[in-house]
Amino acid sequence: MDPFEDTLRRLREAFHTGRTRSAEFRAAQLRGLGRFLQENKQLLHDALAQDLHKSAFESELSEVAISQGEITLALRNLRAWMKDERVPRNLATQLDSAFIRKEPFGLVLIIAPWNYPLNLTLVPLVGALAAALSLRCPAGNCVVLKPSEISKSIEKVLAEVLPRYLDESCFAVVLGGPQETGQLLEHRFDYIFFTGSPRVGKIVMTAAAKHLTPVTLELGGKNPCYVDDNCDPQTVANRVAWFRYFNAGQTCVAPDYVLCSPEMQERLLPALQSTITRFYGDDPQSSPNLGRIINQKQFQRLRALLGCGHVAIGGQSDESDRYIAPTVLVDVQETELVMQEEIFGPILPILNVRSVDEAIEFINRREKPLALYAFSNSSQVVKRLLTQTSSGGFCGNDGFMHMTLASLPFGGVGASGMGQYHGKFSFDTFSHHRACLLRRPGMEKLNDLRYPPHSPRRLRVLLVAMEARGCSCTLL
Ligand code: NAD
Repeated sequence: MDPFEDTLRRLREAFHTGRTRSAEFRAAQLRGLGRFLQENKQLLHDALAQDLHKSAFESELSEVAISQGEITLALRNLRAWMKDERVPRNLATQLDSAFIRKEPFGLVLIIAPWNYPLNLTLVPLVGALAAALSLRCPAGNCVVLKPSEISKSIEKVLAEVLPRYLDESCFAVVLGGPQETGQLLEHRFDYIFFTGSPRVGKIVMTAAAKHLTPVTLELGGKNPCYVDDNCDPQTVANRVAWFRYFNAGQTCVAPDYVLCSPEMQERLLPALQSTITRFYGDDPQSSPNLGRIINQKQFQRLRALLGCGHVAIGGQSDESDRYIAPTVLVDVQETELVMQEEIFGPILPILNVRSVDEAIEFINRREKPLALYAFSNSSQVVKRLLTQTSSGGFCGNDGFMHMTLASLPFGGVGASGMGQYHGKFSFDTFSHHRACLLRRPGMEKLNDLRYPPHSPRRLRVLLVAMEARGCSCTLL
């Protein structure tokens, strides 16, 4: 007995019958999503506090407001995004109409992780629903949402409350862990949008390959943070600590480790200590502003990492509370466990390099990260890091502020993922870009050139006609 079959059949039928056709219907779904956020704000904050001990400040900033912002942006810009995009023509198609049409894919699956369980479910959902709004499309994307089974309180709200705000003909929430998701992935989807670990990303991509389903994989990894000698240590400490300990470090774009000289480390450590005390007090465990580790499995994994190098700051933990203190490790070897896996917790190792060249070499020896950070008063140094490395995103002199801009694409490269979203990039991700050329039925004489019998002169003329506007016609 397949628990997903009926739901998927219903959504597919809705897509094919065009029940989800009108722009008004689609805009209503987006507005419904907005109402869900507004009318259930306290419920959502409570659920995020239960799952991750998130403060209302963090929940509002990184979950509710970001999702709301994407909805507003989509509703405001949809008419422009969904317009056919006119493209240049060559001589041979001068009289024709050439354009790119954005079409919805059909049945879309969104699989989300637990660390930002609302944001990472709803922001892709906005893109999937928005991409269906084209007036010219026979139907819109229909969406299956698979929230994380680990952030249980948010999973419950998404399963029980969200469907009241969306039409069930284009949307369904399905629940389950690895086994059920494996079963779900045996079905054919037209697009899969996955956020999670590289390990599961490979499972998703393998399953998608069976149906030749295109995927976006938003994965994780180890994000380097280079700190130059030419920096104000207190400013760096404030910025690094804020984005390392936000959500108790369970953030895919958080800096995973710091690379700096031994001299800068000496200056950075007291600055980090002073920042941590200022942010979380003398006893961070009692601070309402510090999150908790999501579950025992993650807690035990993180606690094992505290044994790497030497603890310079923090290092305390409390299993009953799933609490790990904001921690800084020094004297860490590259071969130690903390440098082998994505940390995903409030632990920051500092590794020493002698120069910016050594830092660049260190970064380039490893998998391409999701984000890379460089701190320096010298714009030359920041630009060197930018030019001589590769990563999904880059931010000079701050933490993950680059991802607050919906005008920038968000996504990984290499082992940190493929594809991108946020703002218009989400709309484009969930749309098939159809190449369209509408020719005239008449003027057949002009086509004589391409029909046999061939001649060198005809080929020359044809090549000029097809390449005049930069068309490189490999067919010939
Ligand atoms: P995960 O890969 O364990 O789980 C993600 C989703 O996959 C969940 O919904 C889960 O139910 C499902 N899943 C788990 N095992 C599965 C299996 N065997 N088969 C099919 N589905 C399975 O990730 P997580 O622990 O929830 O999240 C943490 C990871 O996600 C980190 O690596 C982090 O960097 C990454 N992440 C990336 C981004 C990004 O935007 N790039 C954002 C947040 C988290």
